[in-house]
Amino acid sequence: MNIILIGAQGSGKGTQAEKLAQVLGVLHVASGDLFRSAIAQGTELGMKAKIYIDRGDLVPDDITVAMVLSRLQEPDCARGVLLDGFPRTLEQAKALDRGLQEADRFIDTAVYLEVPREILLKRLSGRYICRANQHIYNINTRPPKVPGICDLDGSELYQRSDDQGEAVQKRLDIFFNGTFKLLDYYRDEGKLATVNGNQDVEKVHKDLVKAITDRL
Ligand code: AMP
Repeated sequence: MNIILIGAQGSGKGTQAEKLAQVLGVLHVASGDLFRSAIAQGTELGMKAKIYIDRGDLVPDDITVAMVLSRLQEPDCARGVLLDGFPRTLEQAKALDRGLQEADRFIDTAVYLEVPREILLKRLSGRYICRANQHIYNINTRPPKVPGICDLDGSELYQRSDDQGEAVQKRLDIFFNGTFKLLDYYRDEGKLATVNGNQDVEKVHKDLVKAITDRL
C-alpha cells in the first residue's frame, strides 16, 4: 500500500502521518525530515538543500526526487509507504509514478487534508518541534508538559527557521499556488480523497483511515 498525504504546512499532516502509518502498517517517509536529517549530518545534499529551505523555497525537483526515490528503494519501504511532503510539484508526481512503476508498484490513494489558510497561519506561528525526533507541539493548542522540553524524549524544542516571519507566508503561497495542481493530477487519475483537517485530531484520524480503507 502506497499512500500520499497532501496538506499545507500546519495542516496537521505530520502528526496525522505518524499515527496513520502505524495503523496501516507502512513506513512514514517525510521529505522534510529527510532533508533536516541530511542537514544535521552535514552531508553535501543537506548543505545544498539548506539554502532553499532557509528561504522558504522548494528544493529543486532533481535533488528532491533523487533523494526520495533512493529512500523508497530501501528494504524497509517494501511493505508500503505513507509519503508526507512529497510529491509537491507535478514533475515530482510524474517522476514518482515512473520510479514506482519500475519496481512494479503504484500509488493507491492521495489524500488531501484540507484546512483554511487563516487557520494554518495561526497554527504555524505556535509550532515547535523537538531536536531528537521531530515530535510536534504547539504552544497554543498542544503545549508540552514542561515548557521547551519534549514530553516523549526530553530533548529541546525549537521553532523551525521556515516557520518564522515571511518564510511562513511564502510557503503557504507556494502551496496554494503550486501544490494545488497536484490535486488535479490525482483527481484525474481517480485517486484523490479529501478529508476536512479543521476538526479535532482524533476525528481527522478516523476520517483519514476511512478515506483510505474505503478505496482499497
Ligand atoms: P516540510 O517539513 O515538509 O515542511 O519541508 C520543509 C522544507 O523542505 C520545505 O519548505 C522545502 O524547502 C523542503 N522540501 C520538503 N519536501 C520537498 C519537496 N517535495 N519538494 C521540494 N522541497 C521540499
